[in-house]
Amino acid sequence: MTKPIAKITSVLEQWALYDPPMVDFTVENVLHAIRYEATYDYVLKFLISRNGFELSVSRVYMCPNNHKAFYCEVDEEIDEYDLPTCHICEQEIVNDLDHSFLVFSFTDEYREDIKKKDLFRLKKLVCH
Ligand SMILES: [Zn+2]
Repeated sequence: MTKPIAKITSVLEQWALYDPPMVDFTVENVLHAIRYEATYDYVLKFLISRNGFELSVSRVYMCPNNHKAFYCEVDEEIDEYDLPTCHICEQEIVNDLDHSFLVFSFTDEYREDIKKKDLFRLKKLVCH
């Protein structure tokens, strides 16, 4: 059986090759793609560990109407006296970590690498 880490890696490679690439995917998206063959914490840890390399992580806060209202850095502090407002309904975001979630996108560097790797693989297929 393939190890979860290899599965996650190949899912990410596929997604990075999409045009346009997958953006703002969540731990749940990855879990679904690997058919829940790893735990939530495992996938979360793995994705976070790739921050700044293959992936960039953001935190998204929801507004009371559950819009994806505000994106920020994972460790960015929210000013509770001047809460950002939702760009859709103009309500203030809910300043609560339980009302936020982490999203992941690919870095340009990683996408370039994956594209090159894929081209190389295709060439090999054609030449043999
Ligand atoms: Zn809203």
